[in-house]
Amino acid sequence: MSRTDLRPCDVPWGWMLGAACARDEYRDLPWITDSHLVAPRDVLAMARVCAGCPMREVCKVYVAQARVSGGFWAGADRNPSAVRRDACAAERAAEVAV
Ligand code: SF4
Repeated sequence: MSRTDLRPCDVPWGWMLGAACARDEYRDLPWITDSHLVAPRDVLAMARVCAGCPMREVCKVYVAQARVSGGFWAGADRNPSAVRRDACAAERAAEVAV
């Protein structure tokens, strides 16, 4: 199997059992909801959970290996259009700062 043939289900996922987002108190947050439907307060709440997650570094590796393209993982929205929006916002902020 080549790297390009890798599917999310081929990447080990046992680490998820130790994830903060798997705890009962955080399961109701919209981890896999389309980003345009997520309230800013929920984005902030998920970012805080990720910031304290003991599996965050492993989660980042998983996101890259499984080429995750949606949901909130490792402290960021993984929807490609959300990433583009973030990049545009960063560019605008940089232009204003000049
Ligand atoms: S970093 Fe965030 S999304 Fe990743 S496992 Fe931890 S809580 Fe879940």
